[in-house]
Amino acid sequence: MAKIEIYDTTLRDGAQTQGISFSVSDKLRIAEKLDSLGIHYIEGGWPGANPKDVDFFKKAKNRKFKNSRLVAFGSTRRANVSVSKDSSLKGLMNAGTDAITIFGKSWLLHVTEVLNTTPEENLRMIEESVKFLKSKGKFTIFDAEHFFDGYRENPEYALKTLAAAEEGGSDRIVLCDTNGGALTSGVFEVVKDVKAKIKAPIGIHTHNDADMAVANTIAAVQAGCTQVQGTMNGYGERCGNANLISIVANLKLKLGIDCVSDLSLKELTETAYYIAETSNMKLGDNQPFVGASAFAHKAGVHVNAIMKNAKTYEHIDPARVGNRRILLISELSGKSSILKKAKEIDVELTKEAPATKKILKVLQDMEHKGYHFEAAEASLELFMKKAMKKFKKFFELKDFRVIIEKRPKSKIASEATIKLKVGDKLEHTASLGDGPVNALDFALRKALKNFYPTLNEMHLTDFKVRVLDEKAGTAAKVRVLIQSQDKTDSWWTIGVSENIIEASWQALVDSVEYKLLKDSEKK
Ligand SMILES: [Zn+2]
Repeated sequence: MAKIEIYDTTLRDGAQTQGISFSVSDKLRIAEKLDSLGIHYIEGGWPGANPKDVDFFKKAKNRKFKNSRLVAFGSTRRANVSVSKDSSLKGLMNAGTDAITIFGKSWLLHVTEVLNTTPEENLRMIEESVKFLKSKGKFTIFDAEHFFDGYRENPEYALKTLAAAEEGGSDRIVLCDTNGGALTSGVFEVVKDVKAKIKAPIGIHTHNDADMAVANTIAAVQAGCTQVQGTMNGYGERCGNANLISIVANLKLKLGIDCVSDLSLKELTETAYYIAETSNMKLGDNQPFVGASAFAHKAGVHVNAIMKNAKTYEHIDPARVGNRRILLISELSGKSSILKKAKEIDVELTKEAPATKKILKVLQDMEHKGYHFEAAEASLELFMKKAMKKFKKFFELKDFRVIIEKRPKSKIASEATIKLKVGDKLEHTASLGDGPVNALDFALRKALKNFYPTLNEMHLTDFKVRVLDEKAGTAAKVRVLIQSQDKTDSWWTIGVSENIIEASWQALVDSVEYKLLKDSEKK
């Protein structure tokens, strides 16, 4: 199998995501993470289009990357301007990287309607720009923008744009599905045709508008592409770019292509969370390979089969990508999955032991009251460890108070005060918040942060409230589910009560205790 190069454009294409705004230091942190994962190329940005990116390249120059080659991105020269006078090429040179990617048009629609130039001038723009960069000693990658659309409309001209780049001496030629509408079989055919006509190594860059980006990338590799471009977690404008997390996992585990080391593969889940955190995004639970639900099994029959042989319902061993199996406990799944769960979290339980029966009984009672542990793994783990005396208290609540106040002509204000003990130290704090739960959350962390600084790494990413109408009791109960996330993981916790503040408090305390437990077990 040919060596496949991984080219990451999270910092350039990924930065176009709605809701993402990287600071220069975010970009540097992400670049370091990509380097440690063993990504071959990191596209740092477009220095000609964005002053922040100029700053990034200035700072990145002083960093030593172990595995990755830093790349600056820009366009070919403009129409009817000589390469030596072109400002975009000048900006690229100033970035100071030894590798440069430039994009050019391979769809005539863009040449005539967007660039407002002739097909011939467009070919000269490509060839001369590549030649210029090569004459300056740069490793040069040519991105053929809209290649698949251009090829569908006029294959002869689209291929001419690639030939122009090859003539200029481009080291890699990358076929882009910029609008993201191509289908897999088409990509395979086109890559095959290009491979027969172009000698330079070919790359693939796809977008996900038809939900095909990963599939199209894998098909392109099978047809002969040796460089794949994409972004972490599939970030990118509109529906995103091809997701490199899934691509790396598929290349390694399905095609046996050694694009990163086995060790790096095990860091995939952690990397996905780290990038999500730094990007201020919530990692999707259903994200293939690395999401919290990617290996979560619910139905009783499935759980039974999984316990006999995991292969029955899993396409890979989750540990290979650093993820873990979750067996969702519900009334359906009975004693055997409780035992399995106990084993997973390192709690000794046997079928006949009275403790097992007791735990099962309490769990069933709690489910009756509205607890829903299959949606709150972390609370279940805490519950079992507490029941088996495997949990040492990190703090003890003395009391809390929440005040909500509305005065004429002012917004509703929420304030929480908390009194708690850590060891024999008494802490008493107060905090304002956007709402009562937010105020409680802030006050709790404020009270604990001097004792447990790692709490600064976690934050709440989701909050769900549901009114339970079971058995039509007079007092309606609510169930609160809270999801928290840190740099390596995400977890759900639960609280149930007639009082929404109390239910939230239970879930909040569990989320903090779980984080502290997790960190203490790591050491
Ligand atoms: Zn793109």
